[in-house]
Amino acid sequence: MPKRSLIYPIFLPMQGCRHRCIYCDQSKISGGSSFDLELELANVAKFVANHKGETKEVAFYGSSFTALPDDFIQSMLKKFNRVIDPDTSYRISTHPAYVTNDILDRCKQRNIACIELGVQDFYDDVLLASQRGYTGKQALEAALAIREHGFTLGVQLMPGLPGSNAFSIKHNKSILRMLKPDYLRLYPLVVIRGTPICAVYERGEYIALELEEAVDICADYVELAESEGIVVIKLGLPSNLSSEEVLAGPYHPSFGEIVKTELLIRDILRRAQRNEEINLDKKSSLLLMGHRGKYRAILLKRLENCSINVEATSRIL
Ligand code: SF4
Repeated sequence: MPKRSLIYPIFLPMQGCRHRCIYCDQSKISGGSSFDLELELANVAKFVANHKGETKEVAFYGSSFTALPDDFIQSMLKKFNRVIDPDTSYRISTHPAYVTNDILDRCKQRNIACIELGVQDFYDDVLLASQRGYTGKQALEAALAIREHGFTLGVQLMPGLPGSNAFSIKHNKSILRMLKPDYLRLYPLVVIRGTPICAVYERGEYIALELEEAVDICADYVELAESEGIVVIKLGLPSNLSSEEVLAGPYHPSFGEIVKTELLIRDILRRAQRNEEINLDKKSSLLLMGHRGKYRAILLKRLENCSINVEATSRIL
């Protein structure tokens, strides 16, 4: 497992992307920020100065990084190289269609240590319905090539894409078990106003996941990731997406916390089935009592013949 490092994120909204994916609006997802090179150079210099001696990454998100013009990448990283220190490397996210041995060799020479691959799904029917422009085999080959070149590998998956179903989820899980990426990022599809999928949704040709469904699917992925030593680095879209921008889908600013609560409930249920006495620590109690006790009520509904007094004793008997 790679050593966790401090990350300074930089958004390059949809730069390098040869087409617009049906669900994507990186400007809204990143809170409307656009790339200002001079400002980012100054911020990275401060970030590096504030964290001397610590392992750090400058991460370029929101784009197809390796599809950017090579001279742009070269000249931009040359400028960042002047403000980083030997404990800092780069992390990029990119599209599986723009991963070749030549590209990976150049990434290696440029101090890029981690590549997050925006796979979204490994199942061909889903990729086709979502117009991603590659097959599941190509996505897997890109991931394997990243791994073989010695990079830290991150995989991004998007539950709820058009065409996804229980079978495609099962397929994704079998690929994850085999591939064992270092990191997994899960962000269920949210229908953002102004994106091409809005029209599909409005014609009734796409049904968005309900929040509970997305939580359940992500909790399943997290359980698999934990059993395979894969670190889940993000659940859900950033909380700075305005809810007014959301037409449909499982958007919640605390999505990750809700998934953690679902995992806690599953754990409690398993332990209750074994008749174990369960003591909740403060963090777990707070998770259950959050959202006006909604998840405590869900737990009670699923716990038969048991009682719970989270507030008073943090103990379930
Ligand atoms: S490749 Fe990524 S950043 Fe580019 S349009 Fe598609 S989802 Fe958005």
